[in-house]
Amino acid sequence: MTFADDAERVTRSDSGHSQVAITDLGKVPAERLHPKAAYSRCRPLCIVGIVARSSERRVASTGGSQRSVELETEPDDPMDDFKLLIDLHITADRQGPGGEAETRRAIELSGLSKRRNLKVADIGCGTGASTLVLAKDLDAHIVAVDFLPDFLDVLRSRAASAGVADRIEAVNASMDALPIEPGSLDAIWSEGAIYNMGFENGVRQWRRLLKPGGILAVSELTWLTASRPAELEEHWHAQYAEVGTASSKLAVLERNGYAPMGYFTLAEHCWLDAYYLPMQQRFPAFLARHESSAAAKAVVAAEELEIALYARHQAFVSYGYYMARRIDDAL
Ligand code: SAH
Repeated sequence: MTFADDAERVTRSDSGHSQVAITDLGKVPAERLHPKAAYSRCRPLCIVGIVARSSERRVASTGGSQRSVELETEPDDPMDDFKLLIDLHITADRQGPGGEAETRRAIELSGLSKRRNLKVADIGCGTGASTLVLAKDLDAHIVAVDFLPDFLDVLRSRAASAGVADRIEAVNASMDALPIEPGSLDAIWSEGAIYNMGFENGVRQWRRLLKPGGILAVSELTWLTASRPAELEEHWHAQYAEVGTASSKLAVLERNGYAPMGYFTLAEHCWLDAYYLPMQQRFPAFLARHESSAAAKAVVAAEELEIALYARHQAFVSYGYYMARRIDDAL
């Protein structure tokens, strides 16, 4: 089987539409914005990526999640509500479930710890939760990519405080149009972000950026069991049509030119202590800052709904962390 980097494959979304990436959201002219801002109602699909086409805007993951991204109130300016999400999440240590120990476990499973002079991309890095661990633990130059410049500013200052600024290059780009030379990366990292372009689309497109034998380490919303309560299934399926079991994700990796190396799931503390509870503590000040506007209340209500759902059904859903190696025919 050939894993050729087929231009057709890498430039088409799962729905078959060609995509034009926004590389700097702040510079997108207002007239190109769809009247309804593209947001995820719920987390951990924290900040939903946006991919623009000339005539419409859509969520980058899959068509199935489009109906989940309209706020209950129609904002006058969609960017205002986008700013709300940035405001809620920018001061957090992380913008999705995870933990330093889990990032380290993934590094261990990837076999990168002892290697030198690596080039690594951290895609959808947010304010840098995983980027900082990678920079501290690896002998690597890290290209940290996010499409929100505000998050990258915070990442730069966190990197400076941690004394690793010289190892990190923060790049404002969209994950489906990465300004990275094909075949140049020893590893691609991405925690809680690949859903923005869809897991299969993401692993397929990103593969060509890796050197042969390069490592992919991604976390992705994952069903823990073969079946699950209907309310959980309906909720997440509406948010992210590609949600699936670990075996289905491993199969995606296998059929896209990777050999899986490891998999583990994020434990409860990665959701509650590291993500949901700190977020809940920010709600009162967030609402006060926005004078309890309808849009701000809708953001909080959506988060609370997801938190309650997680509390009821955490035995059935988590993030899976997947490590895999790029395989080429010639190797
Ligand atoms: N990895 C971080 C952030 C996860 S939240 C953490 O675990 O804490 C998802 C991140 O993906 C956000 O920072 C969001 O701004 C970014 N993102 C969403 N869509 C994107 C896109 N199309 N291109 C680049 N980054 C995107």
